[in-house]
Amino acid sequence: MNDDQLLRYSRQILLPEVDLSGQQALLKSNVLIVGLGGLGSPAAIYLGGSGVGSLTLVDNDVVDLSNLQRQIAHGQNDLSRNKAESASDSILALNSDVNVEAFPVRLLKEELELQVSLADVVIDATDNFESRFAINEACIKLRKPLVSGSAIRMEGQVAVFDNRGGGPCYRCIYASGGDDSNLNCVENGVLAPVVGIIGAMLALETVKLILRIGASLNGRLLLLDGKLMDWREIKISKNLACPVCSNV
Ligand SMILES: [Zn+2]
Repeated sequence: MNDDQLLRYSRQILLPEVDLSGQQALLKSNVLIVGLGGLGSPAAIYLGGSGVGSLTLVDNDVVDLSNLQRQIAHGQNDLSRNKAESASDSILALNSDVNVEAFPVRLLKEELELQVSLADVVIDATDNFESRFAINEACIKLRKPLVSGSAIRMEGQVAVFDNRGGGPCYRCIYASGGDDSNLNCVENGVLAPVVGIIGAMLALETVKLILRIGASLNGRLLLLDGKLMDWREIKISKNLACPVCSNV
């Protein structure tokens, strides 16, 4: 680490849980973020600021005026731009230490598996079951920890699925998927700070997994009711009939 890096990351390096070795581990790590909307934006910004060395951003969508209320990686000058490319510029403006690779497409099976295989941690910040199932399957197949979040209205949820110890996967709780409108805010609406809270938690769980510190949310689903500011935790059990992880 050079002098600029020692100063830039000094407030993290001060933490005994991070120290120089932890900061170096962050600088060497690669995080795949799928979805650069309301959840992926704050997750990507905080991970870029923290000095995660490589961020791989995937999103095939473009920035719309209705996104700017909460998708903080994009600005007014980014309207109609691809979200992965717009977020990439925001991260580089904050921290040019980060190697950012932007994929302005929906990655299909083999391409998705390749990017998952190159990642230390995968963040699912998408808003549809098809993408969520594909990301989960790739993470189980390649034994990569998955950090997953969602938010609508004034509610959010976050969980970690780290199957390296044989724990449950995303499909264990959402066996058959269902209506995507339960995942997206087009019909339900969402209050901006709620996605900020959940997105920042995605970044925090990711950093903890990279540093191997604390207790992760692995196998636990944390539910936020922002209206009542009430947090609830549900233990996720492995579904022995799960089509994805039951025979892994
Ligand atoms: Zn499963």
